[in-house]
Amino acid sequence: MPEGDTIFRAARTLHRALAGKRVVRFESVFPALTRVHDDSPLTDRLVESVSSAGKHLLMRFSGDLILRTHMRMSGSWHIYRPGETWQRPRRDMRVVVATDDFVAVGFNVPVAEFIAARKLARHDELRRLGPDLLGDRLDEADALARMRARPRDEIANVLLNQQVLAGIGNVYKSEVLFTCGVSPFATVQDLDDATLSKLIATGRRFLQANVHTSLAPMTTYTGFRRTTGRDNPRERLWVYGRARLPCRRCGTLVRVKKQGAGVRLTYWCPTCQPASS
Ligand SMILES: [Zn+2]
Repeated sequence: MPEGDTIFRAARTLHRALAGKRVVRFESVFPALTRVHDDSPLTDRLVESVSSAGKHLLMRFSGDLILRTHMRMSGSWHIYRPGETWQRPRRDMRVVVATDDFVAVGFNVPVAEFIAARKLARHDELRRLGPDLLGDRLDEADALARMRARPRDEIANVLLNQQVLAGIGNVYKSEVLFTCGVSPFATVQDLDDATLSKLIATGRRFLQANVHTSLAPMTTYTGFRRTTGRDNPRERLWVYGRARLPCRRCGTLVRVKKQGAGVRLTYWCPTCQPASS
C-alpha cells in the first residue's frame, strides 16, 4: 500500500496540473462513475482542487462533485501531456480526467466514487480516519487516545491502522519502529506515552521529509523514499526489505515476519528493538 506521502505528492502534482482548468474529457471503466457522467457530465466542469486525506485522493469539481479514489495496494495516478505515451497498458486504465493541457490517468485504482461535496463530511471512511500525519497541524492528543483505545494491539499493526493515524504504510511502519528502538510486537499497553509520542513524531517527520524530496514532477507514484538521510538508493532505508542483511547500527541480521490481520511483512532488528524493555 502506498504511504501517505505518496498520495500527498500525487495530489499535489495533480493539483498543480489540473486546478482551475476545465475538464474536456472524462472516461472510466467503472459503471457507477460513467452513470454520473452520463447524467451530469464532468465535461466543462472546473477542477477546483486535488487534495489528500490520509490515503484517499479527493478531486473536487465545480458543481458539488468530488471524485474520491483510494489506491489500496496497486493503484496509481499518472499525469501526461495530451498525446504522450502512457507508461502503463491501456487495460490498466480505470479513470481518465483530461484538460486542454494534461491527461490524468488512474491506473488499477480499485476504489473510485463520486460524492456530493456537501456529503463529504459525513462520508463513513473519511470520517473514521485518524489524525492525518501530513495535515498542517497534528492533533497529537487525539492520536495518542486512539492508540490507547487499542491496548492489546501490537504496535506495528496500530501504526498501519488508518483509523488511528492516517498516512503510515508498510515501509514506514518498520522504519519508524526501528528508528525509535521499539519492538514491532510490543502491545500498546507495554509502551509509555513518551514512546508513543516519539513514534507519532517520527512517522510525521518521515512522511514530511519525503513529501519535500524533489522528484521527477510528472510521476505521481514512485518507490523512492528514504529514512536514513542518505542518498545512495541502496542505503536509504534502515530495515525495510533488508531481511538477513546486517543491521546498519549493530550488525545483527535483520529479521522479517508476517504480522497482523493483513499479513504484512515486518522487518526489525532484534538487538536494536528488543522484545521487552
Ligand atoms: Zn541493530
